[in-house]
Amino acid sequence: MIPSIRGTRDILPDEIDRWRYAERIIVDICGHYGFREIRTPVIEREELFAKGTGEETDIVQKEMYAFEDKGGERVTLRPEATPSMVRAYVEHALEQHLPTVKLFSLGPMFRYERPQKGRYRQFHQLDVEIFGIVDPLLDAELIEMATRLVSALGIESTELVVNSVGCPTCRPNFSRALLSSLGDRTHELCTDCQRRALKNPLRIFDCKVPSDQSIIDSLPHSSDYLCADCRTHFEATTSQLTAFGIDYRVSHRLVRGLDYYNRTTFEVLGDELGAQNALIGGGRYDGLVRRLGGPDRAGIGFAAGIERLILAMPSNSKRAGPDVFVVAIGTDAFEPAHLLARDLRHGGVTSCVDYDGRSLRAQMKRADRAGARYVLIVGGDELARGEVTVKNMESGDQSTVLRSDVVNRLREVMLKASLSDTR
Ligand code: AMP
Repeated sequence: MIPSIRGTRDILPDEIDRWRYAERIIVDICGHYGFREIRTPVIEREELFAKGTGEETDIVQKEMYAFEDKGGERVTLRPEATPSMVRAYVEHALEQHLPTVKLFSLGPMFRYERPQKGRYRQFHQLDVEIFGIVDPLLDAELIEMATRLVSALGIESTELVVNSVGCPTCRPNFSRALLSSLGDRTHELCTDCQRRALKNPLRIFDCKVPSDQSIIDSLPHSSDYLCADCRTHFEATTSQLTAFGIDYRVSHRLVRGLDYYNRTTFEVLGDELGAQNALIGGGRYDGLVRRLGGPDRAGIGFAAGIERLILAMPSNSKRAGPDVFVVAIGTDAFEPAHLLARDLRHGGVTSCVDYDGRSLRAQMKRADRAGARYVLIVGGDELARGEVTVKNMESGDQSTVLRSDVVNRLREVMLKASLSDTR
C-alpha cells in the first residue's frame, strides 16, 4: 500500500453528508449576505504570498509548499485565500463590473504545519472578502455574519474575540513601545522572536513558545497606542456588535499571524476543540489591494476552517445509507428487482439492489448494514399480484403497495423525510 501524505485526509463516504450539509448552509448564508462565489487556482506565484501574507509570517517563513516548476518559475500551493482573492479582484478589475465587491470562495489550502486534531497540511476554508468600504458598520456586519455561520451550523459554545491592531500611522509608535518595553530582554526570547523584534515586532504576539509567554504577557497593548481614527473605528465596530446583541471579549494579543491586517481583527473560538480552537479568523486589510498592484481600496474578510466547523458541529444520528434497498426473492425476481431499482433512481430515490443471488436473509442483512431506510421486497407472490412489499427499517412496519404506484409513493415519503431533516 502507498499511504496518503501526512497531514492530508480522505473525506470518507460516512463523513460526506456532514460536509455537504455544512457547505450548503455556508453557501446559502453567503448568498443571504450578498456575496458572489469565485474560484481561484490552488497554485499561485510564490511572491504573491511573500508580498501579501508577509515575509515575516510563519506561513511564508516555514509553511509554504513552494517549489520551482519545470519552467523555472517559483510557485506555491496556496496557504491561504486572501492574496489570491485580491489578485483576482485586481487582475479582472472586478470593481468595474460589480458595484460593491463581496466575494466568497470554498476550497483547499496547504500549510506545512505539524499535524494534530483540527490541524492538517491540506485543509479547507470558506473565505469571504469585501472590497471598497471603510465604514466600521461593515466590520460589525462581517463579524455578525461569522457568528451567524457557526450558529446556523448548530455550534453553540463559541467565543468571539476582537482587537484593533492600528494602522500604518499609529503602528510604528506601538512597535517602538514594544521594543522599548522588551529592552534587553529580547535575547531571552526564542530565536524566531529575536528575528521578529528586528523585522516586525508585532509578530512576537504570534509566538507559541511556552518560555516566551511571561515576557510577551508583560508587553504593552495595541489598544493603548491607537490613533484617534483607529480608536473611533474600533469603538464604532464594538458598539454595533453590542447593538446586534453579540457578546465579545477584547484581546490585545489577537494580532493574527498575517501581516496585512490593520484596525479590526477578530476570531471565533470553539469551546470544545482543544488546542486548535480557532474556527474563524479575519480582519480589515486596507492597503493590501494597493500593495498587490491594485487601486487604493479598502478590504476586509475572514476565513473559516471547514474541518474545524465540522468537528464542532453536533452529531446527527440520521441513517446515512440509501433510501431504498431492493431485495429479490428467487431467480424470476432478479430482473424485475433491477428494473424497479432503475425506476426508483430515475424518480430521484437513492436505491441499492443486491447481486449474486443471495438468500432473503442475507439480502436483508445487507440492507440493514447499508443503512437503508426502506427495503422493497420483490418475490413470486408480489410479482403475481403486481405488488411490492415495503418495509420501514426503523419502525419495522410492513405494507404492500402496487408496483405501478411504488415509485411515486417512495418519492413522496423521501421528500417529506428530507424536509424534516433540514434543521
Ligand atoms: P488563518 O488563515 O490562519 O487566519 O485561519 C483561518 C481558519 O482556518 C482558522 O481559524 C482555522 O479554522 C482554519 N485553519 C487554519 N490553519 C489550519 C490547518 N492547518 N488545519 C485546519 N484548519 C486550519
